[in-house]
Amino acid sequence: MIVSPAFAGKRYAVLGLARSGMSSVETLLASGAHVMAWDAREEPRALLEGRADIADPLAIDLTGFDGIVVSPGVPLNRHPIAQHAGAFGVPVIGDIELFAQARASLPPHRVVAITGTNGKSTTTSLIHHLCEAAGLPTRMGGNIGLPVLGQDPLPEGGVYVLELSSYQIDLTYSLAADVAVLINISPDHLDRYDGFDGYVASKARLFALQHADQHAVFGRGDRDTLRIASETMAAHDAGTVHVVDPDALDGQGVWPSLQGPHNLQNAAIAVEVAHILGIEESVWRPALASFVGLPHRMERVAEARGVLFINDSKATNPASTAPALGAYPRIHWILGGLPKSDNLDECAPYFGNVVQAYTIGEAGPLFAEILEPQMPVMRSEMMCDAVRQAMEAAVPGDVIMLSPACASFDQFRDFEARGDSFRQIVEALIEDANAPCPPIDGASQ
Ligand code: ADP
Repeated sequence: MIVSPAFAGKRYAVLGLARSGMSSVETLLASGAHVMAWDAREEPRALLEGRADIADPLAIDLTGFDGIVVSPGVPLNRHPIAQHAGAFGVPVIGDIELFAQARASLPPHRVVAITGTNGKSTTTSLIHHLCEAAGLPTRMGGNIGLPVLGQDPLPEGGVYVLELSSYQIDLTYSLAADVAVLINISPDHLDRYDGFDGYVASKARLFALQHADQHAVFGRGDRDTLRIASETMAAHDAGTVHVVDPDALDGQGVWPSLQGPHNLQNAAIAVEVAHILGIEESVWRPALASFVGLPHRMERVAEARGVLFINDSKATNPASTAPALGAYPRIHWILGGLPKSDNLDECAPYFGNVVQAYTIGEAGPLFAEILEPQMPVMRSEMMCDAVRQAMEAAVPGDVIMLSPACASFDQFRDFEARGDSFRQIVEALIEDANAPCPPIDGASQ
């Protein structure tokens, strides 16, 4: 765990005791801070009984507190904590800000911070993999599901690779990343911001927090990313701003876990970061081939009778599904869930690659209506029926792909449960085409 004298004798409230909140509490306690902790749920509060004060920061006078650490899951634009803390002049921060404040007492190191609407986890784990291949001490953390404070500090020369959501950036004030990366921006999470501009501004802050001599790396696929790149160029030293051209990187065909135009973009960005970190081509090129992708992102789950099965359950919006459709020429596309938009416009350029669509979940009827004029559509409703129908229709060379373009919460606990369910169904039906649908953990179907 990361511990720092920066927190000794200070007073913090921690609101939200999930993974990152708990790791903040542990770091603060071990660093000699006084901690008040709160969560709406009883269990995590009980875990801290006796070690931290248990009280709701909303209900008390916050005079004398050095910070309120909130979980990125708390919607700051609606939750009253921002106003309450503001009334006492107490900053509302997140675990990444605590990490930023602890940096001065860590052995000399570099931080790579990655944000974007889509591709964050893939790019983060790929950069981490390239660092490992180069023999650099490295850890990944942040939004990827591993709280950075919970990990042991790196020895001198280490590289912390952090995936940051815009919520985490909103709670960060002093992270000067040695390399900051913005992959892309498209509309998402707009319920948490004052429209799209607020979301874009949140991403831009990651670069505003840097020093002029630190490196900034941008994808070049959309207007808003390019706008932030040119703003950053105006503020940074010459030669520190890199706008990455994915076409400059050849060899994608031999990287099994980096298929599709989106992954070419992710790989090109990771390679640019590798250059900045001083990693040679003789190291990064073979490492691109040995990279094993993350589960639920364009994950090959099976191949049977010449048909490839791809689990892209993590694609929870049309912008992230679009490149998945661009990755193969003959796709049986399973889509639907809890809709985040009322159209599939971003996917339209790739409709020519879809042999047939199979709609499921709450968005099913809407998506079927949108797609029916363009392609054959089965209104499958349930994942299991969709996979069965797709297997009946597919011929050797085809790909059956779950890339839902929707959130999962209508039928599943989360995108992982949805992807796991797809995999179980695929495995059962490959074994026996008439198998009943397997019982599904975490699903309500
Ligand atoms: P994030 O962590 O930002 O959600 P992931 O790496 O987990 O991103 O990928 C999520 C989904 O987004 C993947 O299933 C993939 O289809 C899509 N995706 C990945 N990289 C990109 C990219 N560079 N541009 C657009 N979509 C992408």
